This record gives sequence, C-alpha cells and structure tokens, in this order.
Amino acid sequence: MIQRACFGRLRILCPQAVYSLKGDTLLFFFRFLPELREICIKIFMNFIFGGYKSNVIVSKGIPSIDSITNKFDNALIIADENTAGIASKICGGNYIPHCVIKSGEENKTWRSVETILSSAVTNKLGRDCIFIAAGGGVICDISAFAASVYMRGCNLALVPTTLLAMVDASVGGKTGFDFCGIKNLAGTFYPAENIYIPVDCLSSLPQREWKSGFAEIIKTAILANDFFDQLDGISSFDYKSDALLSCIEKAVAYKGKIVTEDPRESGGRRILLNLGHTFAHALESVLGLGNISHGEAVAWGIIRACRLGVKLGITGESRAKKITGLIKKFGYESEYNCDKAALIGFMKNDKKKRDGKLAFIVPDEKSAAAVTLEKENDLKILEEILV
Ligand code: NAD
Repeated sequence: MIQRACFGRLRILCPQAVYSLKGDTLLFFFRFLPELREICIKIFMNFIFGGYKSNVIVSKGIPSIDSITNKFDNALIIADENTAGIASKICGGNYIPHCVIKSGEENKTWRSVETILSSAVTNKLGRDCIFIAAGGGVICDISAFAASVYMRGCNLALVPTTLLAMVDASVGGKTGFDFCGIKNLAGTFYPAENIYIPVDCLSSLPQREWKSGFAEIIKTAILANDFFDQLDGISSFDYKSDALLSCIEKAVAYKGKIVTEDPRESGGRRILLNLGHTFAHALESVLGLGNISHGEAVAWGIIRACRLGVKLGITGESRAKKITGLIKKFGYESEYNCDKAALIGFMKNDKKKRDGKLAFIVPDEKSAAAVTLEKENDLKILEEILV
C-alpha cells in the first residue's frame, strides 16, 4: 500500500522548522523563489512490492553517500562508462569500491553480472553490504539482479540517471539480464529498499534518451488519466522544469500503485503498463534492435493502439486524436516504412500472447483496457491500422 502520509508531498527542511505542503502548491512558490527550489525539493513516496518496502526519494541533487549508507567499507557502487562521474559525485571524497561496466544494452549480460559479483568478492564484501547502482535501466537491472543473488541477497539502493530508469526501470522490483539473444530472459523480483531520483542528472542526457523516457511518461499519463493535460505544459525537454518534475512524481506514483496491486504481474492491472508495447516490440524487431529507441517505438505503438481501439469501438475518436496529437507534438515519428507482414509475424510470437491469442492494451475513456485478437477478420483490422 502507498503510505498516504508521505505520498505526493514535498517536504521543505528549513533550519527551524519542517513544513510539509502539497506538491503543486510548492511548485507554484518555487516559480517565484528559484533559489528556494534549488535547496528544497524532496518528494518522498513509499510502496510495498510483494512484501518488500521501497522508498522513493525524488530530489534535485545527487544523493550523498552518507544519505545512502554509513558503512563505507561495505558498499559497492556500480556505474557504466557514462555515469561513472555521477558515481564519483555520490562518493564525494570517500573511498568506495567502484565497478564500471561498458554502457549499452549489449552489455546487459551474464558477463556484466559476473563482473559485479567478482568485484564484490574481491573487495571482501559480506552479506550485509550494499550495492549502489548509479545509471540507466541497464545498470539498475543488472545491479539489482546481482544484489538479489549475492550471498542469497544483499542490500540494494538505486540511483537512476536516465528518465526511463527514473519513471520505469527503477520502480517495481524487476531485475534481469539478456541471455541467448533474448531480452530479460533471466531475472528475479528484488525491489530496492531505497530509490534516489536526482533530476539534475538529466542535464547531460542525450536527446534520444530523453525521448525514450518521455514516451513512458506519456504512456503512464494516458493510463493514470490525472496528469495527461499537464504534459501540454511541457514545451521542451528541460530538467529544470517544474512541470516535468511533477510528471516524474506522478508517473512514479502510478507505477508504484499498479505494482503494489500486482507485484508479480500475475494477471492484475500491471499488464496495462504494456500499452503500445506489442506494437513497439514488433517494430523494434523489424527495424533491428538498437536502430530505434524503445521509447520511440512505444510512441509509435501507442498511436497504433489508439487506431486499434477506435476500430474496436473502445477508444473514442476525440481521445485518440488528443493522444496522437500530443505524441506528434513531442516530435516522435508516427510513420515508419516497414513490412506489415513482418510486423504481424513478430506480434504472433510476442511473449505477451494470452491463450495463443494476440494481446493488446488500447486506451479507453478513463485509462486503458486489454483486448485479444484471434479470428482472421480481427487480423485484417491489424493490417489496416499498420499503415
Ligand atoms: P541505458 O541504461 O542503456 O542508458 C541509455 C544510455 O544513456 C547509456 O549509454 C547510458 O550510459 C547513458 N546515460 C545514463 N545516464 C546518463 C546521464 N545522466 N547522462 C548521459 N548519459 C547517460 O538505457 P535506459 O533507457 O535507461 O534503460 C533501458 C533498460 O531498462 C532496458 O534494458 C530495459 O529492459 C530496462 N527496463 C527495465 C524495467 C524494469 O521494470 N526493470 C522497465 C523498463 C525498462
């Protein structure tokens, strides 16, 4: 359950007093007092994922090692080539063993997990140690997997540094690595006790990675239906924007709520998080992995999900138009020239199939709904919308 006492609030720590005010009110004040914003922003949320408690702390700055642990001699910080600098900033002047993995999805492998585990052994870390992951979804996923198996499970803190990892990969406890060419084939459920989301880290994020993460925010806004209109207030990818900060908070809160209800994706509402993903995975496969970012494919997939929903009478025309308009506003491609038969072929092999039927999530008026297609006639609909 989300702990309501803390949820959705900003806490200002001043020398004499601690105030706790509703998030949006404070963001209004920060517009006039930017220097207050610099030092004050901290949003706390707590979730329980399958019996494990996860605290999420959204802040402006990078967390210090003291705030993560005081056992410096029993910690391992894991980063990739592009986030090693962030890991050093977390450590400050303190010596903490580092493990730096090559960046990119192609390194989300057992070999990288082995490097992390070997590094922990070399540094003589005991079971009470803490693994601190500072990086994007790849580093968060492999570090969390390594933590889940090191001496049958050690402590874990995540410091996600990409937008995608902040709003998606770090929350919910899924860990894993790619194996035999299959994405996330091996993995565990192992939620981090503390997740620190430092929005300042987004200052160095390349545009492509921004777009990748932002598509997941758009997806969540469609599902949550309480901050979709707020996205219109974001005109560019600016890590200092209060509107963005508020959307990050709301996206994390929504994902946390859904995962709390269905921690192991065992038939509850967690499947809704796959909105646009059946189409997206097919497009990524047809274009070749790495030739399009996951978020760009998801944005394209959400447009197709809207078209499918309209054809099936589940998505209203005006809702579909609004969603499609927003996706185009952020500069995502809405058309890719690729072979329809190949796309449908990949969808037929999608692991999200239910009882052998193609499964999709399509927007409805308030959120989204799961549908399956099986009959020849239904498959013709797919051909029509894949233009
Ligand atoms: P990523 O970790 O590969 O990061 C993308 C690139 O950005 C990398 O080159 C990285 O080095 C670089 N980078 C990271 N932080 C940076 C920063 N602050 N400034 C500059 N460069 C930076 O990819 P991602 O998009 O963050 O995550 C994708 C992975 O997340 C996939 O493997 C996916 O399976 C996984 N994922 C997991 C979950 C989950 O629930 N566990 C959910 C969604 C996605």
